[in-house]
Amino acid sequence: MRDKTTSNSGSFREDVDKMVDRAMVVLGVDPAIGAAIKACHSVLQLKFPVKIHGEVQIFTGWRATHSEHLLPAKGGIRFDPIVCQDEVEALAALMTYKCALVDVPFGGSKGGLIIDPKVYDEESLRKIVTRFAMHLAAKGFLDPATNVPAPDMGTGEREMAWIAESYRRLYPDDINAVACVTGKPLDYFGVQGRSEATGRGIQYALQEYFRHPEDVKQLGLSDGLQGKRVVVQGLGNVGYHAAKFLSEQDHAVVVGILERDGALIALDGLPVEAVHEHLRREGTLRGFANATWTENTAQALEMECDILILAAVERQIHAGNADKVRARLIVEGANGPVTWEGEQILRKCGVAILPDIYINGGGVIVSYFEWTKNLSHMRFGRLQRRYDETRATHQLTALESLTNQQVPEWMRQEIVQGANELDLVRSGLDDTMREAYQQMKDVMRESSEVEDLRTAAYVIAVDKIARWYRSLGIV
Ligand code: NAD
Repeated sequence: MRDKTTSNSGSFREDVDKMVDRAMVVLGVDPAIGAAIKACHSVLQLKFPVKIHGEVQIFTGWRATHSEHLLPAKGGIRFDPIVCQDEVEALAALMTYKCALVDVPFGGSKGGLIIDPKVYDEESLRKIVTRFAMHLAAKGFLDPATNVPAPDMGTGEREMAWIAESYRRLYPDDINAVACVTGKPLDYFGVQGRSEATGRGIQYALQEYFRHPEDVKQLGLSDGLQGKRVVVQGLGNVGYHAAKFLSEQDHAVVVGILERDGALIALDGLPVEAVHEHLRREGTLRGFANATWTENTAQALEMECDILILAAVERQIHAGNADKVRARLIVEGANGPVTWEGEQILRKCGVAILPDIYINGGGVIVSYFEWTKNLSHMRFGRLQRRYDETRATHQLTALESLTNQQVPEWMRQEIVQGANELDLVRSGLDDTMREAYQQMKDVMRESSEVEDLRTAAYVIAVDKIARWYRSLGIV
């Protein structure tokens, strides 16, 4: 169930603020700076009419810009029947801290439109998205230099292409027009590896986590991702890619997949690709062969596993169920899936959390690559790929003639091959996920007050933003 303002805890936005407050105490930041950092700079609310099959419907949407110390402000657009302003502001704030943590030079923003995209045909949806985009652009909330959306829940490549096209038609003389949005299709100014990026980032972050034996041991887990039991909530863009890569490449075992209407369980492992195809075709996981189906998703969330990937919506683990969680490690693929109170309980139970502002940063990291590609008007690797191949060939030839030995053909291929765009994007993503993890670990080593990764992540982010604010003379 979606719980926006639970009776036993604050709202989503208040929870995010509490995490900032905790970091500010560690850093000893002046509360005035803290207040400036937490404030959401501007929120646009739109109510706009669209004629759908002869009938006028009024749509309500928001775009919140939480921070503008770096521009453009960046963050996804969510299509959801119950999105609200508090949620959009909370998500915009998370973008500010996420960008600071993963070293992406953007401010934080987020958008939301109250809509169930499934009930509209493609042409109607295109009309709605186009109108929304035109209003956002007209009000200065869509622009390659100042505010750049991306996909989020309920939106994807198709919607991003429509948004870019709307902006381009409004401003045909803007040479960087298509950089007004990221997450576009590859054949419409996108970048290789963007659609998989958040799930891929989760994979890289987990690989890094398992390179730290002391962290793994603390949870009572054995070395390596191989054989680790994984439960995934939400088989959308984030959950599907994370589950696919972890099971197919790291040999983790996906024992449970939870969707809106129920869960599939198979202790010997679910074939993620086949389950995803079934979901795409049928619109439900129900009816998938060779697995147990249950409508009791609350219970499925509490099943025993090593890694629980929350990749659906916010506020899924809270004061009411945190003590029943039987995972050792929680991965916040979604934004804000664990409430403040839920987290306090999990910590007492010794459950570790890889926090959202770190673990789901892959999307914005690769969006940054896409944006820079759009501004450079050239695909990555175009200039140096063949040059690198020629140099490597010369080096190998020299080595062979000096040693009188021949390098095996497979090794030659591996060494000589120049990096293409996908190689470079994955390399940049992997590097960023590793770096950020190591920085969080450094903070935990240096400060006895920082005992968990979320606090460490916020300490890094808030410290950076506070320094920017001071040097800009804002505070
Ligand atoms: P999506 O719409 O592609 O997928 C969400 C999936 O979750 C859908 O399959 C939906 O049916 C399912 N779902 C919704 N409510 C559920 C519930 N209560 N229980 C179980 N399943 C449920 O969205 P997405 O892009 O994968 O985003 C998921 C989360 O990840 C969101 O919180 C989003 O903000 C966050 N996120 C997304 C990206 C990205 O690049 N797409 C990046 C960072 C963070």
